[in-house]
Amino acid sequence: MPSRPVVTRFAPSPTGFLHIGGARTALFNQLYARHTGGTFLLRIEDTDRQRSTEPAVAAIFEGLSWLGVTPDAEPVFQHSRADRHREAVMDLLAAGHAYRCYMTVEELEIERERARAEGRAIRSVWRDRTSNSPDAPHVIRFRGPLEGETVINDLVKGRIVYQNIELDDLVLLRTDGAPTYNLAVVVDDHDMGVTHVIRGDDHVNNAARQTLIYQAFGWEVPAMGHIPLIHGPDGAKLSKRHGAQAVGEFADMGYLPEAMRNYLARLGWGHGDDEIFSDAQAVEWFDVADVVRSPARLDWAKLAFINAHYIKLADNERLAALVSDVLIHRGEKPHADLSARLPDLIGLLKEGAKTTLDIADSLGFIAKTRPLALDAKTAGLLTDETRARLARLGQSLAKVEFTRESLEPAIRAFSESEGVGIGKFGQALRGVMSGGSPAPDLATTLASLGKDEALGRLNDALGLSS
Ligand code: GLU
Repeated sequence: MPSRPVVTRFAPSPTGFLHIGGARTALFNQLYARHTGGTFLLRIEDTDRQRSTEPAVAAIFEGLSWLGVTPDAEPVFQHSRADRHREAVMDLLAAGHAYRCYMTVEELEIERERARAEGRAIRSVWRDRTSNSPDAPHVIRFRGPLEGETVINDLVKGRIVYQNIELDDLVLLRTDGAPTYNLAVVVDDHDMGVTHVIRGDDHVNNAARQTLIYQAFGWEVPAMGHIPLIHGPDGAKLSKRHGAQAVGEFADMGYLPEAMRNYLARLGWGHGDDEIFSDAQAVEWFDVADVVRSPARLDWAKLAFINAHYIKLADNERLAALVSDVLIHRGEKPHADLSARLPDLIGLLKEGAKTTLDIADSLGFIAKTRPLALDAKTAGLLTDETRARLARLGQSLAKVEFTRESLEPAIRAFSESEGVGIGKFGQALRGVMSGGSPAPDLATTLASLGKDEALGRLNDALGLSS
């Protein structure tokens, strides 16, 4: 039998923000689809009307689009398929794979106790009985096999065997006619042609139940791979106290989407020791079978390292727009002059920046206006000797082009002509330029201010007129 073209899907329930664990699941599904020349789909599992919210749906779309992990077709909304789910349950009913169960809440409680005591899963007396008043309130349950076993050959976890007696006759349709999660997932995955179910391992226990439902329908069971969760750096389940969980938080912290994709791909999967790889390489190398079985740990240092790499590669205009947003958000809207120079400045300042927030921080000293208030440390360094030396430096720099390439040798030559190390005046000069705020190396600091502003700040500090 020719194998079907690969179809994967990400099927989030819209009940909160888009967690990075979910984002990584989406990415793995997309990578696997691309790797095999298949299709990657998105299904919003909004069947639970109480818990699903519009803002959560928006957060999923926004998070995936920021990350650049978008589906190859229009998303499917599970709730809109409720009629199809009910119809499918009627098919199971007609074929004897489901039954109407009229157990009351109290009876169910008794059966639950009994099942626990006997070490088996819940069955209902209605499995083998029909009601005289079929319209009375009832649910529809799956008629699970009482013997045999169900085997999952999980692509990540390997072979998992379930005893059927331990799998309960789960509810397929609730009293109000609403389909349940396990039923809807199977019908949707089948109808969407899904061949590979790649999802978080919190769903591994559903795999056997869903397999039985597939078999009852007579449908091909998709391959399944359950990927371990992402843990915090301390090995505990990722939570608020680890700093961030939502994709949007990582965006706000100044990480670039391409860095995030690279980092997430590396969380729980890898290609040898490669830390940095392109999207194309990830597609070429990714196989769900290579996902590791133990939970991955969030590693902030590694994320920073990867992000710094992508910041260096990123286009300066694009970074300028991102940094501008950061400044505006902080209420430090850059003035027109600074805005115009932002891309060039970023070209100078992005070296070593771990996030776009770092770049925004490093712009702080440039945005200051003359005359700068000097911090105590700088004021202390400005002895008469140093003032005289800085005045001579100002005169010599006035003749130099203010680029990093020209300034570096000029400063070195000046220190040689003075017969002192750069340390003798460098710190004071930096302080004068930055007013004590963090600033990069001297040549970069001067180049990023430009000749007029830099010499103006120097003259202000020395009490000279510019
Ligand atoms: N909707 C489920 C969730 O968000 C995932 C279901 C699945 O992938 O099969 O956890």
